[in-house]
Amino acid sequence: MNDVKDTSGGEVITNVALKDIANLSKRRGFIFQNSEIYGGIGSVWDYGPLGIELKNNVKAEWWKSMVYDRDDVEGLDAAIIMNPETWKASGHVSSFADLLADCLECKKRFRTDKIQGESCPECGGKLTEPRSFDLMFKTRVGSVEGEALDIYLRPETAQGIFVNFSNILNSSRQKPPFGVAQIGKSFRNEITTGNFTFRSREFEQMELEFFVKPGEDEQWYEYWVEARFNWYIGLGIKKENLRLREHAPDELAHYAKKCHDVEFLFPMGWSELEGIANRTDYDLKQHSSLSGQELNYFDDATGERYVPYVIEPSGGVDRAVLAFLINAYRTETVRDRKRTYLSFDNRLAPIKAAVLPLLKNKPEIVEMAHRIRDDIRGVYRVVYDDTASIGRLYRRQDEIGTPYCITVDVESLEDGKVTVRERDSMDQVRLEASALKNFLKDKLENC
Ligand code: ATP
Repeated sequence: MNDVKDTSGGEVITNVALKDIANLSKRRGFIFQNSEIYGGIGSVWDYGPLGIELKNNVKAEWWKSMVYDRDDVEGLDAAIIMNPETWKASGHVSSFADLLADCLECKKRFRTDKIQGESCPECGGKLTEPRSFDLMFKTRVGSVEGEALDIYLRPETAQGIFVNFSNILNSSRQKPPFGVAQIGKSFRNEITTGNFTFRSREFEQMELEFFVKPGEDEQWYEYWVEARFNWYIGLGIKKENLRLREHAPDELAHYAKKCHDVEFLFPMGWSELEGIANRTDYDLKQHSSLSGQELNYFDDATGERYVPYVIEPSGGVDRAVLAFLINAYRTETVRDRKRTYLSFDNRLAPIKAAVLPLLKNKPEIVEMAHRIRDDIRGVYRVVYDDTASIGRLYRRQDEIGTPYCITVDVESLEDGKVTVRERDSMDQVRLEASALKNFLKDKLENC
């Protein structure tokens, strides 16, 4: 695919190149190009055996902090396909488009909101007048020509929450302030792609719509901006590579009163990881007027009826996964050899422990290693590997971010102890094999 460049990047101070991350992702099974054997398709990606674990862990941490750790948020899983009226009400049919200009000299295409000046940022050539490109994927429901209904693949998960506002209010006994959390696929026919998974055409969002009484919106907005920034820091993103950026008035989406982006210093420059917006009562009012259904809240205690304001933290799962990969990537030289490792927070590591027999031709050692693997797996992903020398096995686990390697050796057969090696420090401790379960529980659950 002939993808065009996004020139929104700023200074580059992270020393990881996106190609290092993409190479490691492919080599080790984190992320693959979709339908690669046919030459792929632009900006669509598949998550491999380790990628799915990492992605699931990111989503589980988000769900835990948004739903399990609170009592004012409910979950939802709305369908991707919705009645197309939804997208009229939300404003997507009339205004979800990018303005693009082509360079008449080098023929590259740019988003006009991402470039400064009126000439080509690459070659200085003259640009065409901006043209509007629709970002929604259109398809059809039903099979008979003429009777089929034109529909869209949802470009955001949020609308599934708004149209279910009354269902959740009536079935959950929540009242404002309360939120609805959802993780799911979204689709955008992005024109300016590139930068690995950063801007994909099919991606996942994790969105919370938090409904509050008008007048309380500003304090809740501040609360969520801070909470969402701290979520990334709490999972190990380096503070110096994360910042908040407030949208200028002319940058705000049509529904937003205020918006902050959480930005991460990606190799191509500071870019958006998540947006936190004060969407006001825009969406509920729009859906009320188009559907004819009242979407509001009646407060029994005060006798007041109002349309709640909405604070929306909206993050991308794929962008978070990419940021956690970049953030974790380390190289160092150990005894004249380069060591690459992924320093993930234990909660995000795809594999929590690897059990490695020192001698694979000694059946008692192999048997003990299998027993240990069986004993500690179940709750976490644990692997057994005896396909190389111990040095290579350690390197393999380092490179995929496994925090603990457990080695079974000849002495283990006599004293029942194993060696546990920690990924980042490479420190080793000798532990009773029977104490491993508690050791891991402590390390993995109490981060
Ligand atoms: P951008 O300006 O980078 O296109 P956006 O402001 O349009 O992003 P939102 O509509 O606010 O993005 O979507 C919320 C979140 O969804 C973003 O912060 C991002 O993490 C994620 N997201 C949006 N579009 C994509 C995409 N094409 N690929 C991957 N993630 C995306």
